[in-house]
Amino acid sequence: MAGSSVRLPQGPLAAMADSDPLAHVWTLLESVTDPEIPVVSLREMGVLRAITQSAAGLQITITPTYSGCPAMDQMEDDIRLALQQAGLQGEVITRLAPAWSSDWITDTARDKLRAYGIAPPQGRHCSAAAATPPAQVVQLAPRRAAPPALVPCPQCGSEDTTETSHFGSTACKALYRCLACREPFDYFKPY
Ligand SMILES: [Zn+2]
Repeated sequence: MAGSSVRLPQGPLAAMADSDPLAHVWTLLESVTDPEIPVVSLREMGVLRAITQSAAGLQITITPTYSGCPAMDQMEDDIRLALQQAGLQGEVITRLAPAWSSDWITDTARDKLRAYGIAPPQGRHCSAAAATPPAQVVQLAPRRAAPPALVPCPQCGSEDTTETSHFGSTACKALYRCLACREPFDYFKPY
């Protein structure tokens, strides 16, 4: 098996092929969740990029949601622990280029974020724009963009929301308040 490798597409991940010799490792690491959002796995967030096997052992490649993310060390530790508990040896490699994009968050994860009370990133880059409901105002904004015009409330779905702080519970989220149901919520900013 030496030298076999799995390279992931740049977009949201498709289902892993049954023929993937490392499928069991993908399945195993499905239990590793985002340290800041325990309802979504690192794979669903697009953070877990590749699992490769060489003579030296497994190599797990991750791309953190943004460089300097304080949860990065936690992610690495969690992956190592999951491997250890399964009796596997592995090395975690952090790859910063290409930079993580919120486009990589799977649709399943977007639903989970919403159910968890976090508005998922609005607007997508280029080709993925077709997945956005047509009724919505979409700004295909540049990276590190200003907030989009509309961030629907994850609690009640109202688009009557306002940003109260550009930095919420973590730097990658903004704090919003819904003017319809009055609930504050986190908005995961697009990158
Ligand atoms: Zn609301």
